[in-house]
Amino acid sequence: MRKAIVSSLIAIFVSLNIAAQTPQELADAWDSTHITNKEPSDVRHADLKAYLEKLRSQGVRVEEVGRSNAQREIYQMEFGSGPIKIFLWSQMHGDEPTATSALIDIFSFFSTHKDTPWVKTIAEKLTIRAVPMLNPDGAELYTRRNLQGIDINRDALALATPEARLLKQLRDRWQPHIGFNLHNQQALTAVDHTAKQAAISFLVVYGDARKTETNGMIMNKRIVSEMIKAIEPFIPGHIARYGDEWTPTAFGDNFSAWGTPVILIETGALVGKSELYLAKINFIAMMTAFSSVATASQASASTQPYDTLPHNGSGTLVNYIFRGMQLPPNDGRRPAAFDVAVTAARRRASFLPWLRIARVGNLNGLHGLEEYDASGFYVVQRFRNLKVGSTAEFLFYRTDRVVDWDAEDLETRYEPDAIFSAGKWIKGEGRIAKVLF
Ligand SMILES: [Zn+2]
Repeated sequence: MRKAIVSSLIAIFVSLNIAAQTPQELADAWDSTHITNKEPSDVRHADLKAYLEKLRSQGVRVEEVGRSNAQREIYQMEFGSGPIKIFLWSQMHGDEPTATSALIDIFSFFSTHKDTPWVKTIAEKLTIRAVPMLNPDGAELYTRRNLQGIDINRDALALATPEARLLKQLRDRWQPHIGFNLHNQQALTAVDHTAKQAAISFLVVYGDARKTETNGMIMNKRIVSEMIKAIEPFIPGHIARYGDEWTPTAFGDNFSAWGTPVILIETGALVGKSELYLAKINFIAMMTAFSSVATASQASASTQPYDTLPHNGSGTLVNYIFRGMQLPPNDGRRPAAFDVAVTAARRRASFLPWLRIARVGNLNGLHGLEEYDASGFYVVQRFRNLKVGSTAEFLFYRTDRVVDWDAEDLETRYEPDAIFSAGKWIKGEGRIAKVLF
């Protein structure tokens, strides 16, 4: 009897091992198999088509399902033949690209690892459909909106855009059981009011303004909880919950209302990590979700990791802070020390960043992703325009230097000790001490 129990326990263990790939194994799988080779923000429609060609050559089912305003093809990929239908779409906002690359790598992995037991289980239990880059015109221009200037995610009811009509049609005809709405949030979104960036935020999306808790939502909370546990070791403390305000014209809210409860994933940024790294985190999270549904392990999972997630915060983070410098002496008056905060606009990875001065003054309480102690230095904005909104181009001079501050050719006549330009130290790196946290 005892032997029987032990051997059946072993059998359970073996089957768990077959089904349950660890997050680290998923990370290794992405490292060794990912076919995306550009930073997601540099992926244009032509690059997507090249990725999809590669997927087709690997045997992935890819079909054109519609066209954008500019007649760019919109595609849907499919994997598996199981009864549980999961639908994902990415980049309905053109400048929110990370998950598009993650989806490509997921389908590539599925297709090239069909015989791996846990992939087999997914193929047997689930049918997964995904639309990568729903807004190819916006992706081409790197704008949120489509070519008509409409935010597709506010067009779920009016259906004034071809992209929104397509998305609704794909849902209505197929009636998926779970939806994944894949976006990017601002790089400076924080976890609560901490100095930590929210690299990934989740939301289990309500289907009504009264925030009714449906069975589908409870299931999704369990699934998200499994995703949180899987990615937490890679980005500890950098996961948050997205705001749950009901938006009557948004797709996530309406998918949930129409009967496809939605999980929203918003990828942010993480200083020192590439966009592709966060695509890998998306890969780990989504693979974990598929697996937990396919093995039904989500059914017994706790919702606590989701329920206790800190919320998204804003207003506490900037990209750079330079603290404690002074303006050059003027009329014999020596102004007090002050701080400057600098923020970066959302740009493609291959573009030069555009940095602007966000705040000037005493900035205690504000956190920079990078901070410098510039005490002992005078600062001159390169175009003599040190005010909020100006480009963050700074010349630093030690305060013991003798300089004619009115010189027209200041920068050539009096070589600065350090120059910060376009987010880099182009001279004197290290002379202004970086603050280590
Ligand atoms: Zn978005």
